[in-house]
Amino acid sequence: MNYVSTRGAGPASLDEALRKGIASDGGLFLPDKLPSFDISDFDTGESIPEVAAILLRPFFAGSELLGDIDQILAETFKFPILTKALPVAGHDLSMLQLYHGPTAAFKDVGAGFLAACLSRLEGDTGSPLTILVATSGDTGAAVAAAFDQRPGMRVAVLFPDGRVSERQEQQLCCWSDNVLSMKVRGSFDDCQSLVKAAMADQDLTMIHRFSSANSINIGRLLPQSTYYAHSSLRHYRRTGNKPGFIIPTGNLGNALACIMTREMGLPVGPIVLATNANKTIAEYFETLKWLPRDSVQTLASAMDVGDPSNMERLRKLIGEADILRGRLVVASVSDKEIETAIRQDFEAFGVATCPHTATATHTWRQLDADVARAHDWIIVATAHPAKFEMIVEPLIGQSVPVPAELAAILSRPATAVAIEPHLEALAAALGNN
Ligand SMILES: *Cc1c(COP(=O)(O)O)cnc(C)c1O
Repeated sequence: MNYVSTRGAGPASLDEALRKGIASDGGLFLPDKLPSFDISDFDTGESIPEVAAILLRPFFAGSELLGDIDQILAETFKFPILTKALPVAGHDLSMLQLYHGPTAAFKDVGAGFLAACLSRLEGDTGSPLTILVATSGDTGAAVAAAFDQRPGMRVAVLFPDGRVSERQEQQLCCWSDNVLSMKVRGSFDDCQSLVKAAMADQDLTMIHRFSSANSINIGRLLPQSTYYAHSSLRHYRRTGNKPGFIIPTGNLGNALACIMTREMGLPVGPIVLATNANKTIAEYFETLKWLPRDSVQTLASAMDVGDPSNMERLRKLIGEADILRGRLVVASVSDKEIETAIRQDFEAFGVATCPHTATATHTWRQLDADVARAHDWIIVATAHPAKFEMIVEPLIGQSVPVPAELAAILSRPATAVAIEPHLEALAAALGNN
């Protein structure tokens, strides 16, 4: 299988696309042709790793990693992906909980898979690869956890000082020697600019062998399609219906994986994107004009994206807004509505939801009654509520039990170096490798 840039460059192998992260012309990698499947192709697949191995095999054609797929998937799915039925009379509604991994958000799946691939391709060569990642919280934690203690791999996580929650900061700063946590005196945008500046610097790149693990790497996108394949197959086998998915959406990586899964022939029904007050996608569907902008801060902070980078992939794969809006629905949810939804979820379902997941439950409640009844629906739950306890607990009036893995992380010693938002400061903190 070949991978081509959304802007035309290519073709590259999977291994090159994984290593480079972004194409040489600044575009994002996409497979040149999506494989297509019959539902019966999955007859021998029951568990997630089994379904994933069937789904992802064509994407590994020609890769050095082809023979390692089963092990890569076993490493990726060390934690369960759970489906929980939600009690609502007259509806088949359930929740796909993607948050039982080490850092309690769905990003653990993509980060774990990428780490398993990259450490096989690049690991232990004598001069370590340095993964640079700018984060507003969840991404950096997932990447740090995934690369922690991997031989030949080093991670530098850059996060904005004072702008992540206490628990998020702990999750960014509690790892082994191969993870450098850097608290940048600036904003998330400053962190991102620093990463870009470092990757553009020839001398630094020579010394440190930079690579990036941000959400545009194809190695984060591919594994996300596996839980949609598994979940839709399971539902279809049980009911004969193709379930609809409602997906909390920011940079559009998770939702894009679901769309790709449906394109490949899996039994996925309607797809609804739930966004927060950042309305770039919603307005694009309405006005047909793509107008990226600065993000606004919301309670669902991991979805505060004003210029969702995966839209470039979606437009290439499916088409422009006039076509897209026939295939997808987009909703925008305010902070007030998020708060109401967290309360209602707890009362009606007995389940605590994080602010991101609450955009999806709110969107389900807002569906046209006929649409709601015409399909079975699966709410995608992207983070554990205990990760956002400062928001969730006052709303539901009780404490959210902390899952064991998160508790273990929260009890570790944590350290970070504080740096000014300048390239020299970053270079000094990286040392001489
Ligand atoms: C990253 C994140 C999202 C948004 O996912 P995208 O792939 O960027 O659309 C939603 N919820 C949580 C908890 C996240 O960490």
